[in-house]
Amino acid sequence: MAKVTLQNVNKVYDNGFHAIHDVSLEIKDGEFMVLVGPSGCAKSTMLRMVAGLESITDGQLVIGDRECNDLPPKDRGIAMVFQNYALYPHMTAYENLAFGLETAKKSKAEIKERVTKAAELLEITDLLDRKPKQMSGGQRQRVALGRAMVRNPDVFLFDEPLSNLDAKLRVSMRRRIIRLHNQLQESGKPATMIYVTHDQVEAMTMGDRVCILNQGQIMQVDTPMNVYHNPKNKFVAEFIGSPAMNMLEGTLLEQSGKVCVQLNEHTIELSQAHQDKAKGWVGH
Ligand code: ADP
Repeated sequence: MAKVTLQNVNKVYDNGFHAIHDVSLEIKDGEFMVLVGPSGCAKSTMLRMVAGLESITDGQLVIGDRECNDLPPKDRGIAMVFQNYALYPHMTAYENLAFGLETAKKSKAEIKERVTKAAELLEITDLLDRKPKQMSGGQRQRVALGRAMVRNPDVFLFDEPLSNLDAKLRVSMRRRIIRLHNQLQESGKPATMIYVTHDQVEAMTMGDRVCILNQGQIMQVDTPMNVYHNPKNKFVAEFIGSPAMNMLEGTLLEQSGKVCVQLNEHTIELSQAHQDKAKGWVGH
């Protein structure tokens, strides 16, 4: 069981750059949360702080019921999947999968059982004797995913894991990761997943909820549909949706008790759904 909570978290890098500003976010146990935003918005920094690969300057990180600010990565119950796979080149797929378990001093039988099960789920059983250079990018990424799975983590952390794959493979890997999330849920051992991407299609199709970041601040956290239909601000409105939403400057005015927007020489009455909300903005 692992809820992940960030409370008023700040990150200031050694050079004084303030990358994360007072971020508070609660990721529910078993939830698939996507962190999305343009390059440089600090989504990787946030994930790396959860992983323990970056220190937290200020604020609190809780995973499950443990404060983790100063806990080493290996004790956090997390496993991370990176964009560049990060496999050991001199080891076979089997050895790559087994390595973390050997370090954790698991028995040979248990290692074999866990590796075999993960390999079956990921359909890489016939690749277990191969070294990374003898595999395609998609196959390597499946091994990298398997290496995270065998550890039975409470929390999976994904840092742009599909960015190196071609468009078709990306779609099938997305499905595979969602399937893994669902399978763990159904097996009664749900895993919380935090997934970083700059790709809004990935965010909208994978996340139970998405957290949209800009310049180290949270812009909105909600389900993909709510974010799409009710963007909280202009940044979210422009960022989400393909093709991107067009923006026109207009003035709100009241005519015969109805709020209208004046765009150049056109005056358009707002829909009933927006009347109340827009009343306070007349004149802007
Ligand atoms: P994203 O993953 O959204 O592309 P990052 O988390 O990698 O963004 O970076 C967020 C911001 O922090 C960027 O402006 C980046 O230049 C800066 N940054 C990242 N790492 C460091 C570092 N080690 N020292 C100083 N600034 C950094």
